Amino acid sequence: MIAGNRTINYLRISVTDRCNFRCRYCVPASPFHVIEHERIARYEEILRITNLACELGITKVRITGGEPFVRKDIFLFLEKLCAIDSLKDISITTNGSLLTRKKIKNLISLGIKRLNISLDTLNPVKFAEITGRDRFDQVWESILAAHELGISPIKLNTVILRGINDDEIEKITALTLTYPFHIRFIEYMPMGNSAVEKQQQILTDEIKERIESKFGTLMPVERTINDGPAKKFHINGAKGIVGFITPISSHFCSTCNRLRLTSRGTLRPCLLNNYEKDIITPLRNGASDDELKDIILAALKKKPSFHGLTDQSVKDMPISHMTSIGG
Ligand code: SAM
Ligand code: SF4
Repeated sequence: MIAGNRTINYLRISVTDRCNFRCRYCVPASPFHVIEHERIARYEEILRITNLACELGITKVRITGGEPFVRKDIFLFLEKLCAIDSLKDISITTNGSLLTRKKIKNLISLGIKRLNISLDTLNPVKFAEITGRDRFDQVWESILAAHELGISPIKLNTVILRGINDDEIEKITALTLTYPFHIRFIEYMPMGNSAVEKQQQILTDEIKERIESKFGTLMPVERTINDGPAKKFHINGAKGIVGFITPISSHFCSTCNRLRLTSRGTLRPCLLNNYEKDIITPLRNGASDDELKDIILAALKKKPSFHGLTDQSVKDMPISHMTSIGG
């Protein structure tokens, strides 16, 4: 599928807006409603849309949320997803808190070997402050279990916020000296009305400078086929990789190959633009495969060339919060 001069081959599927965490940069600061059960796309609906998207050229899928592992019967869904022949790559983004060794083994036996796990701090007290849950130990154990069981790469997603966890930039980076993890520093994106203030946002240059003054010059790492938008580097002698995802300071819209399916069953061509195309209603009303494919293509026609989020005037627009869209 083509959008402008970009080839779209990557579908990110949010299987739920629900989450057992309340990360301060992700969920709205004010009370919010979860989506009613009947409005959430059912697994068979997601699978039908995914199959059609694959016929149109999708080869890569990432499962996200909310927290994907809070959704009931997620493994039954993953099993069917993994049976789609044309899907070459299936990965999951998770907060890691519900992963057990058994679940990790199940993932591996399904052929899912790539995991992104969110980890913003190595301090259990701060972990509870950031996520609203006292679950550092479980998450760290999951990360180590995934490593021991051979998940590779393990990408650790880290959002650094000034005055919250910026004192841990070096400590988190140092994990790459011991483990082959990919630490990915993601710039905070102002989505909806999270509790994070503009002045808490830290951009990549500052983080990179801090890392280089402690560990020396970061050496660029050659890109591979599965690389997303992260700019990758490594510290001399390190086992792992340090990546930077820079949606704010240096957007990567011109190479964006993604389409999103939200947990509400809408197609969202850009994370940071509120345009969404409803596909679940026509599907539930009996649309044919060809009609649904036309809806997918029509959604992609609306993929903006640039998200516009660095512009102060759009910064405060009421963007839906991340848990319902999938990060
Ligand atoms: N619950 C899972 C998790 O935390 O990994 C998957 C969903 S979460 C929305 C996906 C990713 O989005 C996480 O790595 C999280 O750190 C990131 N994220 C959430 N809100 C963000 C924001 N406002 N700015 C930047 N990244 C954000
Ligand atoms: Fe939940 Fe992930 Fe958002 Fe944290 S970042 S609240 S774990 S969806």
